[in-house]
Amino acid sequence: MEYISTRGSAPPLDFEGVTLAGLASDGGLYLPREWPRLTEDEIRALRGRPYHELAATIMRPFVVGSLTDDELDALCETVYGNFGHAAVTPLVQLDEQHWLLELFHGPTLAFKDVALQLLGHLFETFLARRGEKMMIVGATSGDTGSAAINAVAGRDNVEIVMLHPKGRVSDVQRRQMTTVRAANVYNLAIDGSFDDAQAHVKRMFRDPEVAGKLKLGAVNSINWARLMAQVVYYFYSALQLGAPDRKTAYSVPTGNFGDVFAGYVAAQMGLPIERLIVATNVNDILHRALSEGDYSAGGVTATMTPSMDIQVSSNFERLLFDCGGRDGAALAEQMRGFEQSKAMRLTNAQREGAAALFTSMRADQTETARALAWAYRETGQVIDPHTGVGLHAALAASEDALVPAEVPLVTLATAHPAKFPDAVERAVGVRPALPGRVGDLFGREEHFTEIDGSYEAVRDFVLANASA
Ligand SMILES: *Cc1c(COP(=O)(O)O)cnc(C)c1O
Repeated sequence: MEYISTRGSAPPLDFEGVTLAGLASDGGLYLPREWPRLTEDEIRALRGRPYHELAATIMRPFVVGSLTDDELDALCETVYGNFGHAAVTPLVQLDEQHWLLELFHGPTLAFKDVALQLLGHLFETFLARRGEKMMIVGATSGDTGSAAINAVAGRDNVEIVMLHPKGRVSDVQRRQMTTVRAANVYNLAIDGSFDDAQAHVKRMFRDPEVAGKLKLGAVNSINWARLMAQVVYYFYSALQLGAPDRKTAYSVPTGNFGDVFAGYVAAQMGLPIERLIVATNVNDILHRALSEGDYSAGGVTATMTPSMDIQVSSNFERLLFDCGGRDGAALAEQMRGFEQSKAMRLTNAQREGAAALFTSMRADQTETARALAWAYRETGQVIDPHTGVGLHAALAASEDALVPAEVPLVTLATAHPAKFPDAVERAVGVRPALPGRVGDLFGREEHFTEIDGSYEAVRDFVLANASA
């Protein structure tokens, strides 16, 4: 499979190339040149298959030329044998129409494990093949950092430096990063905000002094391999709910537009999806873009759903490209305008293309807490606040008849409630306990380096500790 950039001028790459590159050299994001399609019969034949087998089947067309069938099968078996639930991403029924798809049974209790566990193995495989080493530098407001560290700890040829804003991530999130003992993992607690940390990381990727010495790698969801791995659980859940003979709808708690874009890819591959509901918190740039065509960034408001406190949703560019006729030059122009003014209008083609499948909804803090209370009172389920944003949107969509009553509506449960115990306890009066497999998190020793907030301090740390 060949991959092309959304901005039209970077050279096409194969799967191995896009996995190691992350961002395209023209500033765009990589997408497959065309969508592989499964027929109804091919989809029907996938019913009842174990998760790892389904994963290999769905991902195979995207990796041809870079992984053999045997390599892919073995990779999927290893990665998805390591989850805390035999079904990897089990469905839970809430009432006649509503379901939860639990995506938090990986090692760090958020859906990001589903893709990052695979990415860690892909990095190792491809770097060994090339005889190269890579230094991953990332910034996190919580979930990405722990999932990425867990995915690469102890792996050959890759090291990771993860920046988090000192004192601004939850205790569980911080400990999931700092209690990992591996020689290739470095945690930096920096003075400053997440945005400061993120700005340092972006600057490092453009710093010629760093580029001359190190091969830097990215683990955020601009990496195509992450989205590809997330397509699998749309198929897995829809097959259980009757696909391809019955449609399914999804409500997806959304920040960077990665998880919900994977649902769009599943639909392009032939999965009959009735609707994708983009659920945002009060940081609602995507809701405004999809409902009014207004994609304009404001300031970020801190909420009880920190993994969705985001102003610019990187992966939205992939949708604009695909819906807008795949015109890289035009999109490059549109994105240049956005980068200057922090605002842009969607074209009519982009709006109509998106509206065919997407609906958006926004939940404020009160509505989110109400969804948590509804789930606990009506179904006995304790859910995390991010899932709560999704469930609010799902309940509102069925009430407004945006999704017909006979179509199953699945809310993606993106994190385990024990990751956000304070917010959950405030909403439902119950303090969720950490599952047994991470139970001694608070007994383990923490390791991290405190560093001042300057770019130079971070860069010097990275250069001094890279072994490559
Ligand atoms: C990352 C994250 C999200 C947002 O996912 P995107 O792919 O960025 O849209 C939602 N919920 C949780 C718990 C997350 O960690």
